[in-house]
Amino acid sequence: MNLPGFNKKTFFHRSFVDRVKSLAQYYIGNSLKIAPPQIITFRFVAKSQSCFVYSGCDGFYKYRPSQTAFSEKHMSLRSFRKLADYAADGESEFFFWGEDISKSEDFFGYLDYLSLKAVPCRILTIGGVDERILPYITKGIIKEIIFSFEGHPSQKHYKAFPEVMNMYQSALNAINLLKDFQLTSPVKSKVSGSMIISEFNYYFLDEMLAWSKSRDLDYFYFFHGNSILPSHAGAHASKFYDTFQLSSDSWRDRVSECNTIDSAILIPQMRVIQKNIRKQSHIFTPDLKPWQISPYYTDYNYTAGFDRCYAPWFIMNVFENGDVVSCANFPDYPLGNIAESSIDEIWNGEAMRKFRSEIMLCDRLPLCTRCSCLYS
Ligand code: SF4
Repeated sequence: MNLPGFNKKTFFHRSFVDRVKSLAQYYIGNSLKIAPPQIITFRFVAKSQSCFVYSGCDGFYKYRPSQTAFSEKHMSLRSFRKLADYAADGESEFFFWGEDISKSEDFFGYLDYLSLKAVPCRILTIGGVDERILPYITKGIIKEIIFSFEGHPSQKHYKAFPEVMNMYQSALNAINLLKDFQLTSPVKSKVSGSMIISEFNYYFLDEMLAWSKSRDLDYFYFFHGNSILPSHAGAHASKFYDTFQLSSDSWRDRVSECNTIDSAILIPQMRVIQKNIRKQSHIFTPDLKPWQISPYYTDYNYTAGFDRCYAPWFIMNVFENGDVVSCANFPDYPLGNIAESSIDEIWNGEAMRKFRSEIMLCDRLPLCTRCSCLYS
């Protein structure tokens, strides 16, 4: 079953999001069972968490110990097949997230089964992919590979982390491999980059723009800063507890004491990028106007008019151990495990329904104001 009139595009596409939002309102208003998700995000938990080293944050280790342990419990092929069958029946698309993803032997087993069922996927990776990915591009199931860069190797900050530099180099090698492949293959996947704007990189967006152009990337996604201040975190903790009668700590890796982005430096760079880019090739999330930048980085209640999150209606998040979560920020709010329950029972189960209806009632939790899903 699929949402009526659904026009499948990437979830970054505005008309797609508007369509899903109106359908989500219709479904909740009429207490209908929610159709299978448009996107199943499959999260490989990074082995080294170098993405968090980028931003100098050790919160991931501290607040997500259970999540880091997930990476030790691989999903059985049987469970993966169950998930892929569900995706094929619901016409869902897979979105793999992880670090150096093609180093996982499981990954190619997953791609084999997705190929068999003709389920399309996108991949977001920190680090590279190797040539074993190419046959799956030829089969037409990989729509896009996105390389995540949280900085630029010329930066002193990153040079201090040899592991990060190695990941950057393996991403670069992978981009060269894929761009060469694009020249000769009749079937292509998009090759893109992304970065989260942070206090460590906001002053050289123009360099990242030049870099992405020099690599001829199909898209470059800039995500505005996603951390919150400790004062805002306190409001979130109490609201989460009042709403779900549960203490959740997993999101605390998003709290930063040093969120000091100078809008006066960021705004002129964004103006240059927005003037010079090819249409829709460089995408900012949220898509802020210059006058919205300063409030976004100083007032953590500010949402630039994006007031309600619809992600729980169209994105399912699954971890490597089979746990399904409401959204990646709350892995400690359990919904179920695909090895133990039917996927539809989890997606339309009591815990997920409660999560959706609470989000619908309150519009958003305090943390949501700096989650890119609110703005997608
Ligand atoms: S905006 Fe809030 S509810 Fe939506 S995905 Fe993000 S944290 Fe979860």
